[in-house]
Amino acid sequence: TEFISANDLATLLGVSVNEVISKCLSFGMFIAINQRLDAEAITFIADEFGYEVEFISAEEETSIQLEQEDKEEDLVSRAPIVTIMGHVDHGKTSLLDYIRKTNVTQGEAGGITQHIGAYDVVTSSGKRITFLDTPGHEAFTAMRARGAKVTDIAVIVIAADDSVMPQTVEAINHAQVAGVPMVFAINKIDKPDANPNKIKEALANMNILVEDWGGKYQCQELSAKKGIGVEDLLEKILLEAEFLDLKANPKKNATGTVIEASLDKGKGYLATVLVQSGTLKIGDMVLAGSHYGKVKAMLDYRGNKLTKAGPSMPVQILGLNGAPQAGDKFNVTTEREAKEIATRREQLLREQGIRAIKRTTLNELGRRI
Ligand code: GDP
Ligand code: MG
Repeated sequence: TEFISANDLATLLGVSVNEVISKCLSFGMFIAINQRLDAEAITFIADEFGYEVEFISAEEETSIQLEQEDKEEDLVSRAPIVTIMGHVDHGKTSLLDYIRKTNVTQGEAGGITQHIGAYDVVTSSGKRITFLDTPGHEAFTAMRARGAKVTDIAVIVIAADDSVMPQTVEAINHAQVAGVPMVFAINKIDKPDANPNKIKEALANMNILVEDWGGKYQCQELSAKKGIGVEDLLEKILLEAEFLDLKANPKKNATGTVIEASLDKGKGYLATVLVQSGTLKIGDMVLAGSHYGKVKAMLDYRGNKLTKAGPSMPVQILGLNGAPQAGDKFNVTTEREAKEIATRREQLLREQGIRAIKRTTLNELGRRI
């Protein structure tokens, strides 16, 4: 796919088109002034002039247009959004299940919970935490690959009767690359052969020092099966969240990310979305990926009907005309605009795969010297 002309690229780079042309020539690449360039050529040329190019999806570009500015006084603190990662069988699902079962959202009777890909709990200290219930770093990487940033804190689960395993290392790497702070959960301490110190030592060998070894990483020994230490882990997550000073503006149209979506034969398309700013309400016109629709009903993971959902709240919504993909952004807008943008996105997706250039990116990123 070709994006912009050599001339336009030169303008973005703040150099003359002749400089661009002669630079290319010196590498044996012949280009004309009005020649449209592909992604590879753009990246190469920009790099030669000290710029890094970021290609963002068409969806992201239109989402940015829909975003509303926040006033400082409208920002209020919001719950942390947590992803649990770690090696297979180290206890991610057990931990998520234990937390979901034991921490009931305030004022609600315990009913049958349904899996909607995310849930929020209120801890015994009265604070809210949202968990993405899509364990495994595949979900984390898939979302990030789509440009979605939905995790504030990563909990890395390591079984105390095992060791730091390849997927543990991978999970740590993913969190580090994403700049997401980690809290370590050393699980299965109820087992006779559990050896938490061996795990801490293995982490130390990776340059990760946990707190009781004089380092900066919070670490909790626990048993997801017996429930030992889980409340303490939640308090450590909250402490980490306090450092992050997470804030969002609830007083505007909602924006956020799609966690999962499916088609229910009786109900139609169901999408679990995470509200990241603003407040989502029944009747709002939601645009998600290349689908849209009016929110007809909104449910939490306990099946409770909601009329609105603020920042950091995961909700299942009913009313979209299709199933968006996990990691798609959603916005609230007018029906006309939703229809128009959804159609344009579909067209763009067809025409050029998922990528389009955001023309101003070159200007926004500084010179890299
Ligand atoms: P995941 O693959 O990381 O999701 O791991 P699971 O949660 O499915 O757990 C794998 C196995 O370890 C299951 O048989 C669990 O019952 C067991 N398990 C998980 N946590 C604990 C624990 O704290 N203690 C003990 N003894 N077993 C556990
Ligand atoms: Mg599992």
